[in-house]
Amino acid sequence: MQKRPYSELDACTVVTAVPPKNNKKVVHTTSSASIQVPEGLDFCLQWRESRLEPCLVEEIQDPASIEYYFGQVCLVCQAVVSVKGWAAHANGKKHRERLMMQPVKLKNEVERPLPSPPFNLLGAEHFLSHGSWSLQDDEGQFPAVLTLGEMDFSFSLAVARLRPPGTALVATSFLAEHDPNEPEVHPSDDGERAAYKRVSLPGMKGALQKNINELNQLGAQVLHSVDATDLQGTLRTQGIEGGFHIVVFPFPRYSLSRAPNPCNSRLLREFFVSAMNGVVLEGGLIQLVMLSSQYEDWDVNGMANDVGMKLTSRVQLPPNFYQPREMSGKPWAPSGAELLTFEAG
Ligand SMILES: [Zn+2]
Repeated sequence: MQKRPYSELDACTVVTAVPPKNNKKVVHTTSSASIQVPEGLDFCLQWRESRLEPCLVEEIQDPASIEYYFGQVCLVCQAVVSVKGWAAHANGKKHRERLMMQPVKLKNEVERPLPSPPFNLLGAEHFLSHGSWSLQDDEGQFPAVLTLGEMDFSFSLAVARLRPPGTALVATSFLAEHDPNEPEVHPSDDGERAAYKRVSLPGMKGALQKNINELNQLGAQVLHSVDATDLQGTLRTQGIEGGFHIVVFPFPRYSLSRAPNPCNSRLLREFFVSAMNGVVLEGGLIQLVMLSSQYEDWDVNGMANDVGMKLTSRVQLPPNFYQPREMSGKPWAPSGAELLTFEAG
C-alpha cells in the first residue's frame, strides 16, 4: 500500500466528522458553526506563523479582516471556518477577544487576495481551447500532459482522443492498481463518506480496464499510486523523467466528506508546490477541475497566491467530456464544474 501523503490523516478525517459532544477540545463558538482545529493539524499553526506577526492592539484596523483567514481556518482562533461563515465568525465576541489578547497582523510580505475568483467564468465552448491539450507548438508538437488522481481514466482518455496516437501523455491514479479482492462499497451517507477509505482502484463494472486498454492502444502511459502532493517520491520513482507542458488534476479531494476541511486546501497548495518542483516545465500550465462552489470554499486564491501561481482562466466543464467518479468508484454528475488554468507567477 502506498504511504498516504500526510501523517495527520486521521486527524484530518476528524474535522469532517460530527464532533463528539463531550470532547472539550472541540469548541463551538456562538457566532458561527466553526470548530477548533483538531490536534494533529499542525500545518494550521504553521500557516499562522508564516502569515501573521505580533503587533500592538492599536495596529489592528479591522478585527474581521479577511487577512486572518486562510485555507478554511481562522488563523487567530485556530478554528475551522467556512468562507461563508467568516463574517459571522470574525465579528463574533470570541474571535475579537482572542485577537485583543494576542494582537496579530498580516506580515508585510504576505498577500491576502479576496477569496472570490478574479475572472468571470467562460462558457463550455471555450473548454477545449483553454484546456490546450491539443494545441500544437510552432514545430507541430503536441504538449506533454500529465493527468493526476484518475479513477476510471476517462479524463485521460478524453484528452488522448484529442491528439494523434503516441503523443506524450502520462495518465495516473492516486489509488493502487485494481485489486479484485478489495470489495467495492459505496458509502451511503455523510458519516460513512467521512470515514471512507480504499487502497486500490475499483473495477467500476469494467470501465477501468476498458479505458486503460484504449489508452495503451493510443500510446499513453498508465501509472498507479501517484500522489499529486509528492510527485518526486511517487512519479519520479516510477521512471518518469523530464517535465510536462500541462499537469492536470481533475476533482482533487482529500476526503469524500463535504464538510469544511483545511486538508482540502492544503492538498491544493501541496499539489502546486510539488508540480512546480520541476514537473511542470517553465511557462507550462497547471490545471484543476473543481466545482465552482469549491473555488471560494477551498480558498483557491489563497493557496495559489501563497505559492506564486497565477490563475489565467476559468471555463465551464462540458457535461459529457468525461465520467467523474467518487473514490468509491460511484459515478457522479457535477453540476457547475469548471477548469481552472494557472501559470507560475
Ligand atoms: Zn477567529
